[in-house]
Amino acid sequence: MRKPNIVILGAGYGGLMTTIQLQKSLSEKHANITLVNMHHYHYQSTWLHEAAAGTINHNNVRIMIQNVINSKRVNFIVDKVVSIDPEGKKVKLRETQIEYDILVIGLGFEEAAVRIPGLAEHAFMIKNLDSSMLIREHLEYNFALYNNEMEKNQSRLNIVVGGGEFTSVEFLGELANRIPQLCEDYDISKARVRIINIESEKTILSGLDQQLIDYAMNSLESRGIEIVTGASLKECKPGSVIYEKNGKKVEIPTMTTVWAAGGRANSVVETSGFETNQGKIEVRDDMRTPDYDDVFVVGDCALMKDVKTRKPFSGHAQIIIQQSEIVARNIKKLVNGKTELDKLKPNRFDTVVSLGYNDAIGTIMHNCKLYGWKATVMKKLLDNRYLMKIGGLGLVLKKGKFNVFY
Ligand SMILES: Cc1cc2nc3c(=O)[nH]c(=O)nc-3n(C[C@H](O)[C@H](O)[C@H](O)COP(=O)(O)OP(=O)(O)OC[C@H]3O[C@@H](n4cnc5c(N)ncnc54)[C@H](O)[C@@H]3O)c2cc1C
Repeated sequence: MRKPNIVILGAGYGGLMTTIQLQKSLSEKHANITLVNMHHYHYQSTWLHEAAAGTINHNNVRIMIQNVINSKRVNFIVDKVVSIDPEGKKVKLRETQIEYDILVIGLGFEEAAVRIPGLAEHAFMIKNLDSSMLIREHLEYNFALYNNEMEKNQSRLNIVVGGGEFTSVEFLGELANRIPQLCEDYDISKARVRIINIESEKTILSGLDQQLIDYAMNSLESRGIEIVTGASLKECKPGSVIYEKNGKKVEIPTMTTVWAAGGRANSVVETSGFETNQGKIEVRDDMRTPDYDDVFVVGDCALMKDVKTRKPFSGHAQIIIQQSEIVARNIKKLVNGKTELDKLKPNRFDTVVSLGYNDAIGTIMHNCKLYGWKATVMKKLLDNRYLMKIGGLGLVLKKGKFNVFY
């Protein structure tokens, strides 16, 4: 009997975890496994803001895929997915085309189109490792130029961050840690640097507990971050941004605008003709698409609703890991000829938002609030737990996070 071809698209949180589970649970005689990813490395998207601020080396954020998969068991292709043909069971890559019997889509997120004039052209976005390294280099370049120009250009030292949700806040926390070092390196007074956060809601981190929000605001503001809420970004120009608050327009000269408000599911799913809801595929409880019994979706491309509230779960690394475990189990069942598949019942997950390497806020065990170093320890435990799952103790020791107090 012909062995089924299992193809996994994307080696992000969902795709890589699924591959690692499958290589352990399915022997060579049962199935072929192919993993396709745009880069030869996996990057920890939850650490990208640190690479962007320059508080972590980008090499710590990336993990060579060959080092964590069994290359005798998994055929790894570095290529870009162009489209999927679920009727013909084919995937078009930039260089070639592959066929599958069972497909897992784990292509993650991309930047969402935002209708703010000039934003796409002039703002930076934290969307992958390349874009994060670009932000780091751009920041450093502007600090380096500042004292090399006859006329001091304040726009080099003004940094504007758009959006006040998790990613922006985590990035602001890292910037607060990074700027003193940059000032020291380039002999610039810290008082000259402005970091301004623009959020359209009445508060940053809307939806979180008010005490946690207050703690985060205090932590950021005490380190010099200016938070402007209830303000909407109106235009982004090459050397400035304009926002509006209470009907008044304000222009901030800046060379660095980072837009960190919202992403969307990879558009490949939509352009390939899958039925989508908010750009994502609304999956069944067993993580398959509504229309195809041989196509699973994990991570940010999947829309999963809470069974009780019917509200969609937001992208969350801990849920994605649970999804991958179910997907791998269900694929094994299909390969073994079973038709009754397991259903995902997401377990409790903890929310921790870092405010730099030594401060954080969060809720664990449903409603237990954590602040400061305790939340930081929790955040690092979660990060290290993920490394453990994909690469064991060796990877934790190599890339793990242990710096809580310094
Ligand atoms: C700065 C930042 C901080 C975050 N912090 C947290 C946090 O603290 N906690 C949390 O739970 N979540 C956090 N998130 C969200 C979390 O990172 C995502 O929900 C998660 O990474 C999604 O996982 P995924 O497997 O769907 O895709 P990803 O991890 O995004 O991986 C997608 C993979 O597919 C590859 N790929 C994309 N397109 C193609 C293509 N066309 N062809 C081939 N390969 C392709 C990419 O290179 C990548 O390897 C954060 C996100 C960001 C950006």
